[in-house]
Amino acid sequence: MTKWVYLFDEGNKDMRELLGGKGAGLAEMTRAGLPVPPGFTITTEACNAYFKAGHALPDGLWDQVCTALDRIEQQSWKKFGDPENPLLLSVRSGAKFSMPGMMDTVLNIGMTADIVEHIATTGDDRWFSYDCYRRLIQMFGHTVKHIDDEVFDVLFNQYQTTVDDGLGASLTAAQLEEIVAGFKVRYQQFVQSVFPEDPMVQLREAIEGVFASWFGKRAVDYRNYNKIPHDLGTAVNVMAMVYGNRGSDSATGVAFTRNPATGEKKLYGEYLMNAQGEDVVAGIRTPQKIDALQKDLPESYAQFQKICKMLDTHYRDMQDLEFTIEQGTLYILQTRTGKRTARAAVKIAVDMVHEGMITKKEAIQRIAPEQIDQLLLPAFDPVEKKAAVATGKLLGTGLNASPGAAAGIVAFDADTAKSWGEAGEAVILVRPETTPDDVHGMLQAKGILTQRGGATSHAAVVARGLGKPCITGCEMIRVDTRERRFYSKGLSFGEGEPISIDGTTGEVFSGLLATISPDFSREKNLVELLGWADAVCDDVCRQNEDGSFKKGLQVWANAEYPRDARIARDFGARGIGLCRTEHMFFEQDRLSHVHQMILNATEAQGAYNAVSQIEKELALRPDDPRMGEEMKAIRQHLAESEAVRKYEAALQALLAFQRKDFEGIFEAMDGLPVIIRLIDPPLHEFLPRYEELLEEITVLKTRIALIGKLPENLTLEDMPSIDKMKTELDQRNAMLNAVKAMRESNPMLGMRGIRLGLCFPGIVKMQVQAIFEAACGQARRGIRVLPEIMIPLTGHVNELKASREMLEAVALEVIEANDQTLDYKFGTMIEVPRSALTASAISEQAEFFSFGTNDLTQMTYGYSRDDAEGKFLRYYIESGILPENPFQVIDEEGVGRLIRMAVTEGRQTRPDLEVGICGEHGGNPPSIQFCHQAGLDYVSCSPYRVLTARLAAAQAALGGAERDK
Ligand code: PEP
Ligand code: MG
Repeated sequence: MTKWVYLFDEGNKDMRELLGGKGAGLAEMTRAGLPVPPGFTITTEACNAYFKAGHALPDGLWDQVCTALDRIEQQSWKKFGDPENPLLLSVRSGAKFSMPGMMDTVLNIGMTADIVEHIATTGDDRWFSYDCYRRLIQMFGHTVKHIDDEVFDVLFNQYQTTVDDGLGASLTAAQLEEIVAGFKVRYQQFVQSVFPEDPMVQLREAIEGVFASWFGKRAVDYRNYNKIPHDLGTAVNVMAMVYGNRGSDSATGVAFTRNPATGEKKLYGEYLMNAQGEDVVAGIRTPQKIDALQKDLPESYAQFQKICKMLDTHYRDMQDLEFTIEQGTLYILQTRTGKRTARAAVKIAVDMVHEGMITKKEAIQRIAPEQIDQLLLPAFDPVEKKAAVATGKLLGTGLNASPGAAAGIVAFDADTAKSWGEAGEAVILVRPETTPDDVHGMLQAKGILTQRGGATSHAAVVARGLGKPCITGCEMIRVDTRERRFYSKGLSFGEGEPISIDGTTGEVFSGLLATISPDFSREKNLVELLGWADAVCDDVCRQNEDGSFKKGLQVWANAEYPRDARIARDFGARGIGLCRTEHMFFEQDRLSHVHQMILNATEAQGAYNAVSQIEKELALRPDDPRMGEEMKAIRQHLAESEAVRKYEAALQALLAFQRKDFEGIFEAMDGLPVIIRLIDPPLHEFLPRYEELLEEITVLKTRIALIGKLPENLTLEDMPSIDKMKTELDQRNAMLNAVKAMRESNPMLGMRGIRLGLCFPGIVKMQVQAIFEAACGQARRGIRVLPEIMIPLTGHVNELKASREMLEAVALEVIEANDQTLDYKFGTMIEVPRSALTASAISEQAEFFSFGTNDLTQMTYGYSRDDAEGKFLRYYIESGILPENPFQVIDEEGVGRLIRMAVTEGRQTRPDLEVGICGEHGGNPPSIQFCHQAGLDYVSCSPYRVLTARLAAAQAALGGAERDK
């Protein structure tokens, strides 16, 4: 018989898979002798079996529950369902990975009308028993029967006497009794049967309800977002209730052993006096800071502090605890690895290394690389912020629950936040408090602001997990969701109005404040951690498939401008892996030269080609006088050709621009390699769109025709003169003809990359001249330049041979003219599957390979990226046809196979072949892991992903990350 149920003293911390995080934590604490109420855990396997059996408890489970219940009764000296000495139970979810608030909990199971009455008539706990009972009916109704909380809240709120007290503490026992009666009526109306008074029925249905919440919408959304598999299932923890709502010496709270927002080594948390379980997390009332407990209940506080320290040391990680104090006795209800912001995660890991608790390698493996992005969260420009305060735009200050700055328009419910967010709007979700049902809106919002709730409320915990700025407990604003407005300082703000929130300080402003980029150098802990990460990569020794040995991956960056190159270098990039030169062509001051170059390229190139054709023939027939004549004529034509003149002039102008561009990049990367890619996109991309031109021409023609028909004495003032319009028409027509000539049905597979360079060599020769002139000039100034010329889109070795010969000749000419020696390389991008398949031949002509995995994925799959992502790819991923978006995470089976093959064969021909990746995948942690395994030398990604990539590269070198989700 399968063992479905484990008493707390039968498990341990290593059983998270089976007992869930919470169950494993309770077991470990029980074994360590901490004050945990007695209980048991139903396994995650039982949950999966429940779904497999079509929502039915698997054989043997219920019997095991009953046996375990006997044990709880023995240990607690109470009896389930016994009015004289009733045992009540809590039933809580707990999956392997913590999913705060995403699944359900039912408290006070076992409370019945008989028991309530008995307690009420025999003891002095009338208030307490009705409080427990009304909570049970609502939680059971919500979790098991899916009754909207609002059904109960509306009635409960009618009894509230003060706005602040959301807990009912000010209600009388008689009022609570009335509320219970009202809840029961509502329950029956909704469920069509009475509230179950049999404790065993309550328990069974609650267990099933918690199982079912594994596939509740919010849990599924959360798992999808965090990439947690859906087949893990949740465990269910059944535990004897202890009561924080038992008077002025009782309390309930949540605490972290270190600060989850900053990482500071100091107990952080909050509690509510005379309250029960979910009240703190639900954010119904803003609780007190944990330090205050020292005054309220000093003995319990001291004991709690000691336990926190012990658990932090025992688990060697920051713990998230739930506790209850019942009439002066402390109980620990949960310990688990706490969610934290990126900054806190890094600080805690680095501190723990310094405290001798963990190794540097463990510290590296603990941080999710994706989290690092959060450390680069923008902050508000201090100057703007000061001005906003001075002009009365500061609306209030709440708790700085999750750091970062966000500005956007207000949405008052999750659905609106989601739809506006999906439409591309920056949205701030503003709520009285959030509940797990708001998660879909929180996922889409840029920031979250709540009027109520503490630093451990639902909004705070979820926002920290998502890395979004969040302010909670901002009591200086009043949110009215029915009117869809919030009020502050006598002002009112409606839906769609702009506000700004600073989650780092807790300040709320009206209007949109500008943000500035963060200062990485001030992140001392991160700098230290990434230093360790780089050392891991430098120390590791990989054996490649070809038998050679390599160090770990380096991280390079994709950067076009000196500013970006400097940022990349500051972030620790050790080279530029891709400088896309065409980006420079798009700049305003160059575009007119680029247009001139393109408009005249075909004619000018035709003339050059004619010259070289005759030269070739002349070489064969040196005595043929006709050849000499033809040569003369064509030279004459060249000299007189306007197209040639304009083409040359444009190239000369661009040469000067490009030289300057490269000088800046070489200076920024002094001593590090810089891979410069020659022009790649088809030329028509630099020209206006065909349809736009056609429209402009039609308008011009109509106007010209119209002017011709106007009576002579009538002029249209806002219309240019007819001559001006005719000149413009001629220019537009010339442009249209050029665009027409360059139009292609499938431009991504057409005249681009190396093909363009071979057919219009003037452009790439100019680029190489600019690169080497810049390199020589900077070398002369003492800068160490290491240029690497990258020829894009090679498909056949002959293309590369021809291109390289032509371009290297230009390079040598410049080097010679400058009387310099330079270390340089010529290499190619591997983007066409054929080049990967023929890598051994290609590497004869290339000193380096750079995998352009954007195009390589596009061409291997035969997907046009732009069309695929907008059309079928999303459907493919959602329906499981593809496991991931192959443009984000490398397709190891297909594209990855080509890469592995090309690396091995390329190195067979040229053992010192330098190999890297420069497609989008270069900044994606799982793809980085693949690159490590495939034996690449470096990954190159955008400057802002360099930090993430450095950590991911080290984790790959250590054999993968070891951390909680
Ligand atoms: C690539 O194809 O991966 C690449 C880096 O080139 P681009 O994105 O410029 O086409
Ligand atoms: Mg490409």
